[in-house]
Amino acid sequence: MASPRLLADEMVGRLARYLRMLGCDTVYARGWSDEAIARCAATEQRVLVTRDRALARRAAGSVLLTSPRLEDQFRAVRAALPDLPTDVRFDRCTRCNGTLHREDPPAAAERAEGVPWDRVDRGLPLYRCGECGHRYWEGTHTKEVRHRAREWAAGREG
Ligand SMILES: [Zn+2]
Repeated sequence: MASPRLLADEMVGRLARYLRMLGCDTVYARGWSDEAIARCAATEQRVLVTRDRALARRAAGSVLLTSPRLEDQFRAVRAALPDLPTDVRFDRCTRCNGTLHREDPPAAAERAEGVPWDRVDRGLPLYRCGECGHRYWEGTHTKEVRHRAREWAAGREG
C-alpha cells in the first residue's frame, strides 16, 4: 500500500521530519508563497498539512492542524489519513525527502565518522539518500520515533 503523499507548510517542519521517517513522501514548503503551496498540492496531488486556516481552504482535502503539539498534529493527520504508517521505514531522507536505498558497507577509506561501522560490519543495514548522500541506520532515534508514533496512534501520550 502506497503511503500518502504530503505537503507540509513551513510551520510544521518537525512533523514533516516525522512523516518522512515513517516513509511518507513529504515536501516541506519552506519559504514558499501561499500560491506556490496551493499549486503544488493541486498539481502533485499532495495532501496539504498546515496550521494556516486560510491556506487550508485553498487546497482540497487539506489537513488543518489546530495544535502546536507534535503528538496532536500526528493524530490529526492520521485521523484524516487512516493509511498513514506508524512504523519507521527507511524510504525517505528526513533532510531532503530524497529516496533512500540500501548501501553495501563501503571501503574503509570512504567511512565517514558518525556511523557505527562496527555494527554495520556485523550486519546492521545501512541506507543512503540518493539525493544528498546522508546515511541512515536503525538506532536510538529511530527506536524513539517508532515508539512514539505507535503510542500516539494507540491514543497514549508516548
Ligand atoms: Zn537527502
